[in-house]
Amino acid sequence: MNIIKYPHPTLRHPSKPLRRVDAELRRWIAEMFEVMYSRKGLGLAANQVDLPYRLFVINLKANEDEKDEELVFINPVITKHAGMAEAEEGCLSFPEIYAPVRRPEKVTITAYNLSGDEMRYELTGLLARAVQHEVDHLDGVVFIDRLGETARLSVRDALIGLERQFESDRARGLIPDDAQIAQRLADLERART
Ligand code: ZN
Repeated sequence: MNIIKYPHPTLRHPSKPLRRVDAELRRWIAEMFEVMYSRKGLGLAANQVDLPYRLFVINLKANEDEKDEELVFINPVITKHAGMAEAEEGCLSFPEIYAPVRRPEKVTITAYNLSGDEMRYELTGLLARAVQHEVDHLDGVVFIDRLGETARLSVRDALIGLERQFESDRARGLIPDDAQIAQRLADLERART
């Protein structure tokens, strides 16, 4: 399992709801936490590891020794939001790029957990911001889409760098072509959604 980076097309793919929680899904989730910790991230959406499912994981401590801080959100839906706040965000699919993003300050989110129970969370602060960033991923939206004009300009060169790296990796055969990526996602969706 690897983290895909901008501009990989799966980051733009709207994810589909999962039908069930089973052993294979639990294994993927455990792996998602591992790759997230290995890159010191605090949140990771399934499509960032090239899986087309409505699922993300969070650990605000970004530390594998703090397993009780782990949160799993399956088929999440934000049902309410309030207020507005701006803070700097980064993303494991945009290494070394940070920029301020405006988002609602408080959200209510419902999601299934690993036991298949429907949970409802009223969140504020960093956790509210993190779940909004991750739900955006599931909708094919990334944080640079939400930047103001000044921030957009400040990340422009770094994005061009990532685009060049992607094209060069693809030319070296490290990344499949768009049709192969789409086919794989369709197969994974057929199996589980
Ligand atoms: Zn992200």
